[in-house]
Amino acid sequence: MYPHSKSPLVALVTGANRGIGLEVCRQLAAAGLQVVLSARDRDKATAAARQLAKDGIDVSIQVLDVTSEDSIRAAARDLESKVSRVDVLVNNAAVLIAEGADVLDTPLDDFRRTFDANVFGVIATCQAFVPRMIERGYGRVVNVSSAAGQLSTMNGYAPAYSISKAALNAFTRQLAAATKNTGVLVNSANPGWVRTDMGGANAPRSVSQGADTLVWLATLPDDGPTGGFFSDRRPIDW
Ligand code: NAP
Repeated sequence: MYPHSKSPLVALVTGANRGIGLEVCRQLAAAGLQVVLSARDRDKATAAARQLAKDGIDVSIQVLDVTSEDSIRAAARDLESKVSRVDVLVNNAAVLIAEGADVLDTPLDDFRRTFDANVFGVIATCQAFVPRMIERGYGRVVNVSSAAGQLSTMNGYAPAYSISKAALNAFTRQLAAATKNTGVLVNSANPGWVRTDMGGANAPRSVSQGADTLVWLATLPDDGPTGGFFSDRRPIDW
């Protein structure tokens, strides 16, 4: 529960119309949070919310394109009036472009489009929502990263995507430092290789397994970790 109120915590999940983000919405709502399912396309958000409603799970929807500062600003304004606050932010939206190219062949534009969504999109979304968390003295931020972004094991796989996730992890460290002792906890999560449009049909994990560590980090107690990188609820190397 929100520390200063009896109302449920409000969670905003980006890129939640399908895949892991949709499942995070399901699990957070099942845990009693008030969930805002966001997507860059209103129709997709509506369809996803209907899908959850069929299972008795109630979420609200919000249009949010993380690559558009206008869209982020509009979402922050909308949510301020509709739900009054965001306590939990799961930065899940991401793209995987030029997966098979090597770093010398990947067009610069593919790096730019990847960084726009996977890095700058997260920074801009945090800049819109985290200051109010700090003011209220409570917040949980989960940056959905990837084992592909681990510097300790990085190889030649998907250069634009992998480098973007390493940069995202660096942002996690920066934001954790900026929010130290404010009640806001910030962590990176690796969902593992998950069966989604991005992960493909051969991935070993279900969306439910992939969402587990993200939901755990989104609902950490006040003495939980900050500035870490987690997989299967355990810290992993950067
Ligand atoms: P997915 O099925 O491809 O879903 C990606 C989601 O991000 C979609 O809802 C997509 O919306 C949304 N998105 C993309 N660009 C956006 C933007 N500019 N604004 C708002 N939403 C945007 O991917 P997933 O497998 O669920 O991945 C979710 C997260 O887990 C990502 O951060 C990914 O990097 C990470 N991850 C996944 C795996 C895996 O094996 N699946 C492994 C490691 C990490 P549209 O439908 O509009 O395109």
